[in-house]
Amino acid sequence: MKINLEEIYNLLFDHYGPQGWWPGEGLEIAIGAILTQQTNWHNVEKAIVRLKMANCLDFECLKKISLEKLEKLIQSSGYYKVKARKLKALVDLLIKIPQPDRNALLSVKGIGHETADSILLYWFEQPYFVIDAYTFRIFQRLGYYEGEDYLELQRVFMEILPSDIKLYKEYHALIVEHAKKHCFKNNPKCNDCPLAKNCSNINEPNI
Ligand code: SF4
Repeated sequence: MKINLEEIYNLLFDHYGPQGWWPGEGLEIAIGAILTQQTNWHNVEKAIVRLKMANCLDFECLKKISLEKLEKLIQSSGYYKVKARKLKALVDLLIKIPQPDRNALLSVKGIGHETADSILLYWFEQPYFVIDAYTFRIFQRLGYYEGEDYLELQRVFMEILPSDIKLYKEYHALIVEHAKKHCFKNNPKCNDCPLAKNCSNINEPNI
């Protein structure tokens, strides 16, 4: 099946409207990108509020704060011991290299492709399309992609779409919205799905 990313984008945009999404700015984007690993955004928000209340959403505090205190502040985000270490390591990198490239971000233990690309796209305004579990799920169900390879699927998006930061941000946000409103992990809501006519799995939703 030929992939028509522009048509999919238009269908999603017409249905959900502009998302204007990623919460926060600057360092908060990077913190959110780490805290959201393996949890939902609601839990991340709680952790960010606690960091804000402790005046610890900046380099100075995150550098100085003890690991134990940081763990407590971000506890709601789950895997908080690991995430506290990742945050410390990221802050160390950003103090050394304020404008890191992709390889520098990937050199931080615990930062993978998705987190690095989220930071690059949403904070540093670099044209990297962010792939996440929702992207795999939706494009596999549509019948456009079969694998599980982050870089391969990212390459598909980046080769087909124009290198447009605003479009990359909006498309990723629309994919997230679609996964939350229609294309659920179990029992997707196919009957009024805006992508139904493009979907290979509309009649076998529980893949
Ligand atoms: S038709 Fe169903 S399986 Fe296909 S994209 Fe829509 S919600 Fe997902």
